[in-house]
Amino acid sequence: MTSVGSVTRQIAALEISSKPNTTRNAPPPLQKKPSQNTGNVSRLLTKFAAPNPFTATHSKTASTSSIPTKQISRPPSPAKPAPSGQAPKQPSIDIGKYDGGFELENETRGEKVFGEAAEELALDSSVSRYYPTREWHLTDFDIGRPLGKGKFGRVYMVRTKTEPHYVVALKCLYKSEIIQSRVEKQIRREIEIQQNLRHPNILRMYGYFHDEKRIFLMLEFAGKGELYKQLTKYGCFTERRSSRYIDQMADALIYLHSKHVIHRDIKPENLLLGINGELKIGDFGWSVHAPSNRRTTLCGTLDYLPPEMVENREHSEKVDYWALGVLTYEFINGAPPFEDLTGYNATYKRIAKVDLKIPPKVSPEARDLIVRLLQYDPEKRLALTEVRKHPWILKYKHKTSTSSPS
Ligand code: AMP
Repeated sequence: MTSVGSVTRQIAALEISSKPNTTRNAPPPLQKKPSQNTGNVSRLLTKFAAPNPFTATHSKTASTSSIPTKQISRPPSPAKPAPSGQAPKQPSIDIGKYDGGFELENETRGEKVFGEAAEELALDSSVSRYYPTREWHLTDFDIGRPLGKGKFGRVYMVRTKTEPHYVVALKCLYKSEIIQSRVEKQIRREIEIQQNLRHPNILRMYGYFHDEKRIFLMLEFAGKGELYKQLTKYGCFTERRSSRYIDQMADALIYLHSKHVIHRDIKPENLLLGINGELKIGDFGWSVHAPSNRRTTLCGTLDYLPPEMVENREHSEKVDYWALGVLTYEFINGAPPFEDLTGYNATYKRIAKVDLKIPPKVSPEARDLIVRLLQYDPEKRLALTEVRKHPWILKYKHKTSTSSPS
């Protein structure tokens, strides 16, 4: 069992290196007055699913990519209700009909937890070391339609009851099931990492709170859902669309690596799409905060693992470069390059040999990028900054003003 002290040390170890503010990562100013126009849901979602609606007194600091080094004082109390006599502003977005799932499930699923594990899972962003929020409770939200079911609980589209009625995805995790699966530390790490990240292609976590049985995560609402579903629907993507996604992925990975976070589990199932079709990395279950650079735990799905990980050698952030090559291949061809339906061992061998066969339909530029990323030697893989300047990326860049790949 882990002591509270060691958990505290682990969290302290998640301190992410500070970087000067960059305009690109700074979210747009918050919209104070919601529009009454219900016609353009897409535009409204962009507005109300705002990048950083929930930070407290220090919102200026929190809206940048740098992590404050000092402890921040507790946030102020919740927003004041509208003065009497004034009609409250009506929420503008239809969040759909609630099926009562949170309550129904809470009756039948999960148990109260005790002891050290319970302490580890007592997660509350109002006492977060870097980005404390106001205190949140389930009663602070109007709950709408279900968005999906994950391993540890459901996800709902919700809206804050107080103005300006922000829309978020509320993800519930049952503590007892987390403990049963022995992933308390992993979940805690995932939450700590994700809450400290601010990038347009990384799903924001605005805050979190818990009750006796559950943890709730307030996540950026990914209006276009799962990328994997799109890939399944279309079989594969056009090179134009693939190129835009890969550029966004490379940008997000450059940011993550600059914060010493290695993702280690990049695959279509972990990617979501924002309301404008922009890619969002949405899962940090296997990510590791790696100030010392090297880890040897085997993790992730075999298809996306690089040779150094299937061979259980030391690995670095270059594992994400390899995964980007696999992703490029899969977007264009509809299946990962080393997939072997005869089994795990066959895939393993193909990865270790870099047994890469690129179909003739793939353009020479895309082929070149895939080959440069899928290098056995991690040091020979194309740098992410070079990926963003690669002819296959530049070919499709700035052709239209919309960020939605088509
Ligand atoms: P997860 O527990 O993260 O696997 O989520 C279960 C399902 O809920 C996913 O497969 C998505 O369809 C949906 N979902 C999760 N998070 C979000 C989000 N932030 N925005 C929209 N849908 C989401």
